[in-house]
Amino acid sequence: MVKIDKCPFCGSFEVGSVKSRDGETFAVPTINKTTGKITDYAMLPLMFVCSTCKSVWFNNPNFEGNLTKEFTPASKD
Ligand SMILES: [Zn+2]
Repeated sequence: MVKIDKCPFCGSFEVGSVKSRDGETFAVPTINKTTGKITDYAMLPLMFVCSTCKSVWFNNPNFEGNLTKEFTPASKD
């Protein structure tokens, strides 16, 4: 687990990770620029928040330079 204890924006130590619900994770997917549809490529980063300046940021300790097919979007139909 990544330990981030200082806000990169304001320097506050009042920071923490944002927990997703059980069985879920945060995702930053890409969209097809022509169709506007969400692709099945995404980054699944950890999310952090600063309670002083309210900044939110991501960290992805597993990122190796390219997005991978990390999930299949659920149908909205
Ligand atoms: Zn801050």
